[in-house]
Amino acid sequence: MRRILILATLLFATGAFAAPLKVVTTISDLASLTKEVGGDRVDVQSVARGYQDPHFVEPKPSFLLLLRNAELLEVVGLELEIGWLPPLLDQSRNNNIRPGAKGYLDLSNGVEIQDRPTGTVNRSMGDVHPLGNPHYWLDPANAVRIAIQIEKKLEELRPADAPYFQQRLNDFKVRINEANKRWTAQLAPYRGAKIVTYHNSWPNFMRRFGINVVGYVEPKPGVPPSPSHTFELINMMKDQKVKAVIMEPYFDAKTPQSIAERSGAKLVVLYPSVGGAKDSSTDDYFKLFDSNVAKLVEALK
Ligand SMILES: [Zn+2]
Repeated sequence: MRRILILATLLFATGAFAAPLKVVTTISDLASLTKEVGGDRVDVQSVARGYQDPHFVEPKPSFLLLLRNAELLEVVGLELEIGWLPPLLDQSRNNNIRPGAKGYLDLSNGVEIQDRPTGTVNRSMGDVHPLGNPHYWLDPANAVRIAIQIEKKLEELRPADAPYFQQRLNDFKVRINEANKRWTAQLAPYRGAKIVTYHNSWPNFMRRFGINVVGYVEPKPGVPPSPSHTFELINMMKDQKVKAVIMEPYFDAKTPQSIAERSGAKLVVLYPSVGGAKDSSTDDYFKLFDSNVAKLVEALK
């Protein structure tokens, strides 16, 4: 009995019995990458589901409980969550995960950002990307940069598990590099192809694989389609022989469907986040890319 007690004390002292670190992420992609690095030493939950528009998440009482108990909060930043996270954070009364606290991690600080504004920044006219494009997670190179930042933070919060996190990060890097080679090869025949996307969610993704985004169904990010913009878009698409219109699952298909029909392009639903599909085909970061790359290849054939 006494021996067991000593053993238990020893294990506890080395952190082997420590409960998994409670991590909350704003979007499911950060949750997936945190699981890659944190393994069974983290308990990760995402506020937004993969099939929701991350700019506009409807607050629920259960989110408050999640945030209240969190030891680490990971955000995309660049004002992606500005419409819904600040009031939730206020009401959760958890000072450990507020901006500036040790338990707050804004991942936009260490990644490559597209569409950085050069002039004055404002959200008038509805532009929801005033600080640069926040959809940066859709690039395997940025996934590595995100994972590195997560690893550093997990190490800081759980120093005893540092070797475990480091090993998992290295393993993730190997697997994502291999997968990236596969995705690049699959899309290689379509380099330079022109597409239109509904929202400007794909600048990092398309740039990575050499696909040209030449227009958007939204006149400005966050602004619904208008008849005059749609008319101009269709003419431009015919002119430039655009092959596909990409749509996120949370938009109404009516306008993009009609744009595709009138311009001779295909309408394709791609998932901008892990868990966006109803089945399990997008359940982690790797599957998300497998699914999107296969669908894009099919559309550009
Ligand atoms: Zn956006």
